[in-house]
Amino acid sequence: MMATKEKALLTERQALSSSGLRITSQRALILDIIGRGHEHLDADEIYRQARKKDPRLSLSTVYRNLQMLKKAGVIDELRFGESRHHYEIKSAVEHHHLVCLGCGKVVEFKCRLCPEMRKDVARKEGFDITGVEVTMTGYCAKCRQGRR
Ligand SMILES: [Zn+2]
Ligand SMILES: [Zn+2]
Repeated sequence: MMATKEKALLTERQALSSSGLRITSQRALILDIIGRGHEHLDADEIYRQARKKDPRLSLSTVYRNLQMLKKAGVIDELRFGESRHHYEIKSAVEHHHLVCLGCGKVVEFKCRLCPEMRKDVARKEGFDITGVEVTMTGYCAKCRQGRR
């Protein structure tokens, strides 16, 4: 498990260097934090964690670097219909998100039916579909208990 994560981290560095962006220690740090997080962290959380390692970092620097990494195609910015944006390392594997309306927890899932749906819609609408994003909202097991 650990080894896989380390390997993934290496890939992130490679993605960064092949994107043409200069690898600064700040970018590497931000990328490491995003890559390590199982949750999809928002900018504030990334900032909070990054500050522990580099107290000189400002929130605006974190924002600026996130935008650059996004533009370079190294990370994805996700919006789940609220004001906060979440970040994740751009992954080759298509996946989707479940968002808890109670605590904001984000869970990834793979969609077995999506490739079928994609083909079907592409054929019917004459679209060249380049991406599918499914977001489901609801309440996680923990929050469901609290609502009872
Ligand atoms: Zn929840
Ligand atoms: Zn994700």
